[in-house]
Amino acid sequence: MGKNNIIYLFCFFIILFIANSAIASTTITPQMICFQNLSILQSVINKYNKEHINKIENLDAHSMNLLIEDKYLDKEPFTTHYRCRYLGKGLDKDGVVYCEFHGSLDGSKLPSPEYFIEEKEKENKERSVYLWAVLIIAVILFGIFNPRFFKNNKSEQ
Ligand SMILES: [Zn+2]
Repeated sequence: MGKNNIIYLFCFFIILFIANSAIASTTITPQMICFQNLSILQSVINKYNKEHINKIENLDAHSMNLLIEDKYLDKEPFTTHYRCRYLGKGLDKDGVVYCEFHGSLDGSKLPSPEYFIEEKEKENKERSVYLWAVLIIAVILFGIFNPRFFKNNKSEQ
């Protein structure tokens, strides 16, 4: 194996590693935003229940309006997934808010089965995009480190 090929492989894996960690650290999923909303809703409802005699027991359209009217929330939480719907039961005791689609923060309420199907499809799509990117980077790097390989092929014809 030539010196160029070793440098080539080294660069290839470095770029792969950097790209992989960059993608992983910058990806914000709809579930992350959903869980952020859940934690805001939970703390706002806990605050409301501490300050009121008539506590919020269930999270629904009515109690959401109460929170907005009493200025605990500016508006209904913004969601990034059309299936997000915030619910909760027994919130005056130890119930937790959860999303019908994404589940609850503490894992006591699991995401809906459709969530897992959707995640799987998304993962497969991302993987094929990723593989194509890796292939293109490999070819470009190979061309940079082995310009003679392409030239020799042409001159032999
Ligand atoms: Zn959700």
